[in-house]
Amino acid sequence: MTILYTLYNNSYIDIVHIQNKKGISFYINLTNRCPCECTFCLRQTKEMMKDNSLWLKKEPTTKEVIEELSNYDLTLFKECVFCGFGEPTERLDDLLNIAAYLKQTCPKLSIRINTNGLANLIYETDITPRLKGLIDTISISLNAPTAKEYFELTRSRFGIASFEGMLDFAVKCKRYVPHVIVTVVDIIGEKKISQCQSIADRLGLYLRVRPFEE
Ligand code: SF4
Repeated sequence: MTILYTLYNNSYIDIVHIQNKKGISFYINLTNRCPCECTFCLRQTKEMMKDNSLWLKKEPTTKEVIEELSNYDLTLFKECVFCGFGEPTERLDDLLNIAAYLKQTCPKLSIRINTNGLANLIYETDITPRLKGLIDTISISLNAPTAKEYFELTRSRFGIASFEGMLDFAVKCKRYVPHVIVTVVDIIGEKKISQCQSIADRLGLYLRVRPFEE
């Protein structure tokens, strides 16, 4: 089971196999659960080699993750990112307990969550105050400039309201998380990127355009 991984030669590799860990980002793979079924999701499209798949037969417990983390000198790493083949905030309590351990053990390590931004819909409450002091950066998939296009892409179980819910979450995060980023992939085209930029500008969010990964 791969719990801590990084990207290497366009693939996923357990950080135990990385010789020089200095300055790399590592990722924590907590869950395969997600309220979306994105048309582009790597869970559905990317073929994985059996020995480095991020599919989890069983979700690691907080204790297992912390035990794994304790094997490494955390000061070597650039950043820790909660991101796997699923939505990390599906395990919010565990995620925050692990983040608290990291902050206590290595206060200088930057912590990011890559998320679909639907946590407030998942928990039916505003969870953003809980991120304060634990999460340095939150990167939220904006995906598309309209609720209809967003829903067509994500097929979120929260329906058409997901888009507004995600934007509202992003705005609320600004109160508690130093860096709030919304992202799109470049293949959506210049027109939609420009529309997404307008949304980001209106809401005071930083837009990052990511290159599409085949
Ligand atoms: S939100 Fe992320 S994990 Fe969930 S289906 Fe979409 S791409 Fe996959």
